[in-house]
Amino acid sequence: MFDGFNQVGEQFTFPFGIGQTDKYNSSSLDRMISINKVPDNIYEYNDISVHFRASDILKYMDTLVGQFKNLTIIRKDATVDDVTGFDLVIDSTGFKKLLTNWDDNFVEISDKVPNNKALVFRHPYTDKQNQCVPYSIFKAANSGWIWNIPLGDQLAVGYVHCDKFDVMDEFIEYIQHKFHLTVDRDRIGTVRMRTGRNKVHMKDNVVAIGLCSAFIEPIESTGLYLTTSALKRITSYIDGNLTEQEYNQQTNDEFDGVMNFIIAHYKYSKRSNEYWDLYKNVPVEDWKEIDIFPAEAWDYVLSGFRSDVTRPKDAVNPQELIDIQRGKEFYKWLEDERNLT
Ligand SMILES: Cc1cc2nc3c(=O)[nH]c(=O)nc-3n(C[C@H](O)[C@H](O)[C@H](O)COP(=O)(O)OP(=O)(O)OC[C@H]3O[C@@H](n4cnc5c(N)ncnc54)[C@H](O)[C@@H]3O)c2cc1C
Repeated sequence: MFDGFNQVGEQFTFPFGIGQTDKYNSSSLDRMISINKVPDNIYEYNDISVHFRASDILKYMDTLVGQFKNLTIIRKDATVDDVTGFDLVIDSTGFKKLLTNWDDNFVEISDKVPNNKALVFRHPYTDKQNQCVPYSIFKAANSGWIWNIPLGDQLAVGYVHCDKFDVMDEFIEYIQHKFHLTVDRDRIGTVRMRTGRNKVHMKDNVVAIGLCSAFIEPIESTGLYLTTSALKRITSYIDGNLTEQEYNQQTNDEFDGVMNFIIAHYKYSKRSNEYWDLYKNVPVEDWKEIDIFPAEAWDYVLSGFRSDVTRPKDAVNPQELIDIQRGKEFYKWLEDERNLT
């Protein structure tokens, strides 16, 4: 849910899985949001988003390693010398770009997306029933936006912003007001973001993926999407269906398309101050479709800002609304899921 992006007090929702209308529609998602319940058959939905703690996923993935007979895992500190002697090396060392820090290979985007820092805070729930909700909240703020991404056992909030602006006091005030907590500055973490993309992502036998390759900013959670999309392209490359040049071109086109969609979240806002005005003259190609954000995605987002765009209307599926009504409050549903294992 986007809160206050157009102006204070206005909200709009943006569903994941756009295009899967045979299974659900945004009316039903809005219903889940308004009564904080999910239906028992939620796993049958084609496309749902998941909030997870990355360290938990890593632990889980470690349990899968044994399933792959031709996979050997060596845990070590990699060095630049490790690129020789292999058919293909994938650099996934994050912003460090340990193996792919090639000269003159980075396109900065700070003139289009100025956000380069996030303040982060986690805390046990203070009112789980109302805080542990089945959706993310993105709240526009004076110099960026605040995420509220409820985890199974914790509040997880962060303030994405441009470091030209000191937002610490505003963030602390938000947390205190929203969650009735007293927060010291030393409980707030800082994450720096290097935003932009490589000019080339694959060269000879080395390919950069994930944060080594590109990063826009966290809104719309596109990081892992771009990584999985790159993995599909790497598979095509290995199968001989894509050249290195095509790989690089497609990766750049995809990044530029996602960035174009993201800028629209700021550009059309009626907010005006030194921060929000930074976006006003950034060019955006409206309704430029890419796989992850088809025309309907544009309709959802632009209708949150512009009166000349209509939010897509879904036929309400009565059975689905009944299922949601009969479903469980999200925090209860989560507790029951945990007890399954
Ligand atoms: C503030 C913020 C919020 C984000 N929110 C989202 C979101 O909601 N959804 C989303 O999809 N994406 C999000 N992202 C992007 C997300 O970080 C990436 O999708 C994901 O973490 C990328 O993984 P990565 O492997 O590229 O980098 P990282 O997660 O940074 O992992 C790099 C790994 O390389 C290892 N490493 C470094 N050097 C060496 C070495 N010498 N030898 C061996 N290993 C090494 C590190 O230990 C680390 O494990 C966010 C990013 C930021 C900055």
